Amino acid sequence: MSSRAQQPSQIWDAALGELQLQVDRTAFETWFKKTEGVALNDGEFVVGTETAFISEMLTKRMSQIVERAVEHVLGETTSVRFQVLTHADNPANGQADSERRADAAGADGDGADSQAAGSASYQATSAPFAPPPSLNARYTFDRFVVGKSNELAHAAARAVAANPGNAYNPLMLYSEVGLGKTHLMQAIGHQALGRGIDVRYTTAEDFTNEYIRAIHESTTEAFRQRYRSAGMLLLDDIQFLIGKEQTQEGFFHTFNSLHMSNVQIVITSDRPAHSLKILSERISSRLSSGLSADIQPPDYETRMAILIAKSRQLSVKVGDEVLELLGARIYSNIRELEGNLNRVVAYSDLMQRPLDVDLARQIIADTQEANKRRQPSEREVIDAVSAHFGVDTDTLRGPKRDKKTALARQVAMYILREDSDMGATAIARALGRKDHSTVLHGCKTIEREQNINANLRRSILEVRESLAAA
Ligand code: ADP
Ligand code: MG
Repeated sequence: MSSRAQQPSQIWDAALGELQLQVDRTAFETWFKKTEGVALNDGEFVVGTETAFISEMLTKRMSQIVERAVEHVLGETTSVRFQVLTHADNPANGQADSERRADAAGADGDGADSQAAGSASYQATSAPFAPPPSLNARYTFDRFVVGKSNELAHAAARAVAANPGNAYNPLMLYSEVGLGKTHLMQAIGHQALGRGIDVRYTTAEDFTNEYIRAIHESTTEAFRQRYRSAGMLLLDDIQFLIGKEQTQEGFFHTFNSLHMSNVQIVITSDRPAHSLKILSERISSRLSSGLSADIQPPDYETRMAILIAKSRQLSVKVGDEVLELLGARIYSNIRELEGNLNRVVAYSDLMQRPLDVDLARQIIADTQEANKRRQPSEREVIDAVSAHFGVDTDTLRGPKRDKKTALARQVAMYILREDSDMGATAIARALGRKDHSTVLHGCKTIEREQNINANLRRSILEVRESLAAA
């Protein structure tokens, strides 16, 4: 096996590509965002996480699907262990890897112990306060492949990076998930950081959580200060603010004061600008004062260009035929495209198989199969929810409305809507409700609640975990 084959980071990248398709976005962002592949020792794969809490949650709630994803990449039975590891830089060389492996071997998975076992290059994180602006080092302009589908957004981002505060303010990028909004937004951020601008990158979700905490702790003044002193504000996934009036209010004031001082603001959304009208009138009219640029799914040429660029970054030679095969499929997002390339490369390395058309075909077929598998049936969801909440299925479908039953029912609605291909009307029927508006209301309630209620989040994860294991 080549040494590249053993790079835990590549194995983990491929596994993440798969996990991304299996868990919903919020869960993915919450649990997997800053994880890293650390080591592979004797059938045990070690994943580094940011905090002991995340390690614990992943161990308890996600270990099965993670194990399955890693096994899928490696093609053999593997156990997975999570442990806290943060590090100052991004060691990609063998030296660093063996260091990490030693660390991994020394720690025993308990949060406190693994921190103690960390070498000097790793600091234990307890993350007492908001983390520093963390831009992904890979999300730079030179790694962004430009094609027809994204050239407008790219040009706008370049203009803003060259002339922050003066070109288009705010700049709003929108597209479906996985088409490069965060990448472009952070590319602007990198360039600005390089010029000493005080860049604040945050997701609307983090912004909301911080804001809510500030209100609880009566520290809204400090919160305001923190944002109003920014030299550039990058707010990712603003659609998250829909339905959160109080946070919108907080954002509106932050936005206004920055905008008035000509501070560049960049916003992304996975909904087209006009549907953001659900945001308060004031915000949407402010947003429309800038430029909004959309990104479309990549056409064939762009897909090929991306594949070529990515395979260069992996420093591996992939034949034209294989690239064409991978590029010929329609992808709804670029992560899937990347994921397939990563998987083909990893499989070929790990299984010592030539990187050829046969292998690529097999992997594409496998991914399609995995995608199909993740859709649970109506029956499975209802059973899993019933088991988790201890509410029997007849009661779920019946008229009872006590708190526990109502919650379980709404969770069932939510999971059916998110994870199966059932529409609201079909879900209403499945759960004995009169019409689809009850379902829409239920889903909305859960969507909102889970942002502020960790227990609910946990319950949903647990139900999904049991579905994935089924
Ligand atoms: P979004 O924020 O729209 O959901 P991301 O910016 O997270 O999407 O992009 C998803 C993945 O695809 C990232 O790994 C990103 O680097 C990659 N990607 C997206 N567009 C491009 C592109 N034009 N060139 C290279 N990589 C891209
Ligand atoms: Mg994004």
